[in-house]
Amino acid sequence: MSTTLPRSAGQAKQLRETVGLAAMLKGPDQLPTPPDGEAFRTRFAPSPTGYLHIGHAYAALFARETAHASGGKFLLRVEDIDGHRCRPEFEDAIYKDLNWMELYWDGTPWRQSDRMAIYEAALKELDALGVIYPCFCSRKQIRAQIEEAGQAPHGVHDEMIYPGICRNLDAKERESRMSRGQAYALRLDVAKAAAKVGQLFWQDFRGGLIEARPQILGDAVIARKDTPTSYHLAVTIDDYMQEINLVTRGEDLFEVTHVHRLLQALLGIKTPYYYHHNLLADKTGARLSKRNRAITLRNLRDNRKTPDQIWDMLGLQEHVAA
Ligand code: GLU
Repeated sequence: MSTTLPRSAGQAKQLRETVGLAAMLKGPDQLPTPPDGEAFRTRFAPSPTGYLHIGHAYAALFARETAHASGGKFLLRVEDIDGHRCRPEFEDAIYKDLNWMELYWDGTPWRQSDRMAIYEAALKELDALGVIYPCFCSRKQIRAQIEEAGQAPHGVHDEMIYPGICRNLDAKERESRMSRGQAYALRLDVAKAAAKVGQLFWQDFRGGLIEARPQILGDAVIARKDTPTSYHLAVTIDDYMQEINLVTRGEDLFEVTHVHRLLQALLGIKTPYYYHHNLLADKTGARLSKRNRAITLRNLRDNRKTPDQIWDMLGLQEHVAA
């Protein structure tokens, strides 16, 4: 590791207690080694919807260390497709906080809001394959339908599994709703898409060879009502176009990789390697989120913590074994 060693385990523990941070939910992570002497190209892809916290610092460090240990590059991408939740001051804070932590990236950062035309072109390709359909439902309608069927409202990753309400609307009905100006999202007809491409796998450096089961997320949204993309489409395309050959991200995002693998097959793009790393928890055992204000990098800096102390708190030596 290029970071300094903890001054003492006791001090690190005390620091963690001050900010309400527990250790890792599981562990340790192992820096993956590239097959055949390849160099890894990794990325850190935060969304500017809040300030970065220590969990982000861990994710960025893990990606950087993995790349640099193999002589590769570490890139930055700002995932700002959500015009309602993303704010310029959060984007500025991303650069500032990463610089403060000396987590420098290679090249110029990408910003997803600059790339809408590229996502639109990919949507056209998916449309030509006949694997996407317009969905006019509101969240309320979806929730009501799921509850009526006696199912749990939330499926994987706290998202509702779409019960397919608009999947089989006839062409006339679709056209009439569109001509009335009813807003619609675009969803992937996952059964149809999966049948088109057959069995798929990805190489996960933590989990081994994984068979993709995109059905677990249901008919995922590929373009939202207000943007010509969704997280799934933008991340899949950008990882490919930024030539990322190892996607490192938290294990809370493990399930979404099933859908991303399907999109890669549909769009005919190369599949990177993956590593879904450990997550940090607060003292109640819950994973850190943007709601944990006390552990934002900004707050820690304002409270006179140093980057070294933050690395100590993370207990990197315990958690990232090279
Ligand atoms: N932008 C996503 C987030 O902040 C991460 C995307 C990814 O690593 O795939 O949660």
